Amino acid sequence: MHISELDVNQLERGKKSACWLDISPRVEGGWWQLPLLTVTGPEHGPTVVVFAGVHGDEYEGVEAIPRIAEEVDPTQLRGTLLMVPVCNMAAYAAATRNSPVDGLNLARVFPGSETGTLTQRIAYWLTQKFISAADFFIDLHSSGIVGDIPTLAGYLHSDDDIDRRSLAAARIFGAPVLWGHPPPVPPGRSISAATDLGVPCLYTEAAGAGRARPEDVECFTRGVLNVLRYLEMIEGEPAAAPPPMHLLGDGNMDEVMSAPMAGYFRPHVELLQEVQSGQLVGAVHDPLGGLLAELHAEKDGIVIMRRGVHRVHSGDGLIHLTNRAE
Ligand SMILES: [Zn+2]
Repeated sequence: MHISELDVNQLERGKKSACWLDISPRVEGGWWQLPLLTVTGPEHGPTVVVFAGVHGDEYEGVEAIPRIAEEVDPTQLRGTLLMVPVCNMAAYAAATRNSPVDGLNLARVFPGSETGTLTQRIAYWLTQKFISAADFFIDLHSSGIVGDIPTLAGYLHSDDDIDRRSLAAARIFGAPVLWGHPPPVPPGRSISAATDLGVPCLYTEAAGAGRARPEDVECFTRGVLNVLRYLEMIEGEPAAAPPPMHLLGDGNMDEVMSAPMAGYFRPHVELLQEVQSGQLVGAVHDPLGGLLAELHAEKDGIVIMRRGVHRVHSGDGLIHLTNRAE
C-alpha cells in the first residue's frame, strides 16, 4: 500500500497487523518502504505512536517495538498502538545516522516535505499519518555508533498542560535518568513536530555504540507498556522503578563541546559525573602521544553525553554538560 492511502482511523479493530508502506520509488526499481506494526483494540480510543530507527545506527527501539507488539493483547487494548520500528530504512540499511540517499538527518527535517528528497518525504508522511493522529508520541533513540549517553527519558519541561503530561509519562516510563528541556524545542525533530501539533511526547536515549544492550531493550519495552498503563489503554499499574536522577537543560546535541582539531580523543570524565567549571574533561592527542588540545568544562554540570569513538574530526561533538533539576 502507498502510505498516502493509509487511513489509521479505518484499521480493522481488535487485531494485530504488520505491513510495509511505500514511500518513494527507488532508482533500481521497487520502493523505499516503512515497516508498520499496529495493535487495535476492539473500540476506538486513545492513539499512541512509537517510532524507532529515526537514526539508522540506533538499535534498542528497533528491537523493543516487536516485543511491545508481542506483549499487547488486542482484545484487552483500549485504543490504538501504531509503531514504526525503522523510520529511516535507507540509513538503517547502511548502518549510518543520516540517510546515504540524500545525506540528511531525519531528526532535523520534520515536519518534512511531500515533494522533497527521500528523507524529507519520510518526515512528511511520519508527521501526517502518525504524529498528527497521536494522543501521545514516543520516539525511541539512543546515542548511535559514535556517542555514549545514559539510558534516559527526555521530555519538554514547562508549566504548559501538554508538557506536564509529557513529564508525568516520562516519569512513569521508568528510565534511570529523566532529562527535561525547557522550550523552545530546536526545529526539525519529531518532538518539535509533535509539539507544534499539540501532542504530548517523550523520547529516549541509551548507550548505543552500534548494539542494543538487553537492559536498554528491556527498559524501552517496559517503558512504553508503562505509558500505555498510565493512559489506561492496558490494564495494570506501571511497573515500579527506582526514582530517576532528574536533570534539566538544553537537549540540543548540535551545540556541545566539540573537537578543536582532528586527533585521538581521550575523555577524562565518566557519564553522569559532576564536573566543575574549568575542570579538565578530555584531551585530543596525536598518534605519537603528543597533546594537541585540552578540553575544559565551561560551566559546572553533569556529563550527559560523551563521545565514544576516539578518532575525531575538527568540530565533532565530544562532551555535553547539563544540570540537576532542583
Ligand atoms: Zn537518534
